[in-house]
Amino acid sequence: MTEHAIRNTSDVIIIGAGVIGCSTAYYLAQLGITDVMVLEQEEVGSGSSGKSAAMLSPHSCDDDWSLRLIRHSYARYMQFEDEVGAPCDFRRIGWLSIADAAGAPELERKIRLLQAHGVPVEVLSPDEIRRYYPEMRTDDLTLGAYTAEDGTLDPHSVMWGYLKRAREKGVRLLRGVRAVGLRVRRGRVEGVETTAGFLAARTVVNAAGPWAPEVGRWAGVELPILNRARCIWVTAPFPFIPFGRPFVDDVGREWYFRPEGPGLLIGMGVVPVDRLDVDLSGQLLPEMIEIAVHRLPVLERASILTSWTGIRPLTPDGLPILGPVPSLDGFLLNVGWGGMGLMQAPVAGLLAAEYVAFGRPITFPDATALELARFGI
Ligand SMILES: Cc1cc2nc3c(=O)[nH]c(=O)nc-3n(C[C@H](O)[C@H](O)[C@H](O)COP(=O)(O)OP(=O)(O)OC[C@H]3O[C@@H](n4cnc5c(N)ncnc54)[C@H](O)[C@@H]3O)c2cc1C
Repeated sequence: MTEHAIRNTSDVIIIGAGVIGCSTAYYLAQLGITDVMVLEQEEVGSGSSGKSAAMLSPHSCDDDWSLRLIRHSYARYMQFEDEVGAPCDFRRIGWLSIADAAGAPELERKIRLLQAHGVPVEVLSPDEIRRYYPEMRTDDLTLGAYTAEDGTLDPHSVMWGYLKRAREKGVRLLRGVRAVGLRVRRGRVEGVETTAGFLAARTVVNAAGPWAPEVGRWAGVELPILNRARCIWVTAPFPFIPFGRPFVDDVGREWYFRPEGPGLLIGMGVVPVDRLDVDLSGQLLPEMIEIAVHRLPVLERASILTSWTGIRPLTPDGLPILGPVPSLDGFLLNVGWGGMGLMQAPVAGLLAAEYVAFGRPITFPDATALELARFGI
């Protein structure tokens, strides 16, 4: 569906209206670059952005870079409504990490990292963990850590908030149109071939999330994106775990849960996939039930209301790929945001917009370390 007559030239075309593309459009408009088209093959948020666990969590970061970026993004989310003019529906619920003996060294590393960045962390013994979750089995746990500032966002409020303000400034959104190639001339991008014809642009931003490798190939680049499927299950109303309890991450076991409305949301899976339309929730269900009921025996009484599978576009070093492609002028990457794209969207859009406007990142000048060149490509 198109909301504007299709104009076939723009300064910038952004491929992908997930949270990263929407944020990029918003920050471009903030920097005065408004001749921008956001191109989306389906619907806003129909990719990974509509399938996340919706957490904004400094606690989830495992490295210095991610934590620096998220501290910036977190501050922007706290003023989202003032800045963007729409709410992002942040709800502070806190984040509780738990670890058994095998996971404890990893959690200890994370605690040191959070403390080094000034994030207040409460270090917990197994008994103290039960203060937050009396229903939890803790006799086989060694360590816990709680941070209070983490919480949930509404990804659709974030995407539409960014888009609304960007469109007020002139940015266009084209939905239901798929990019199928790039037009390149003498090492420079000229525009995008689409199912609605050729659209010229001086700059093309690859914000295609899990589809980014396909878009990269049109530019002759093999992007090191590792697409990994993760499933989410939501239980029917479950009064035994009251709303308001923190998110729980079982370190080293790759599963987590948090209250979601009257039920519980449970996430699990790091499954390599070469197709993006997979549904693994039935396949992973028995393993999930075994792990979840072990930790929270009361879950034996739960029933699953709904489930879905989403794709996390990871990279070999766990960091995003942001910036130019040396072999093709006018082609910019904002990809590989893995399991943190929602929480990092403000800084992702801001830095990409700075690359377009100034040719380099301004807010974090050393973010050039996130460019594709670090992989020797
Ligand atoms: C189960 C799960 C849980 C997660 N939990 C969290 C969490 O709690 N917190 C967090 O911060 N992150 C989380 N994530 C990660 C987060 O969802 C992603 O990092 C983020 O959504 C990536 O956004 P994106 O805009 O790059 O990709 P997407 O949202 O996938 O957007 C890319 C868009 O590009 C479009 N597109 C692709 N190819 C084309 C084309 N050729 N032409 C036109 N359009 C195209 C797609 O249709 C899509 O809409 C989770 C992910 C999953 C799967």
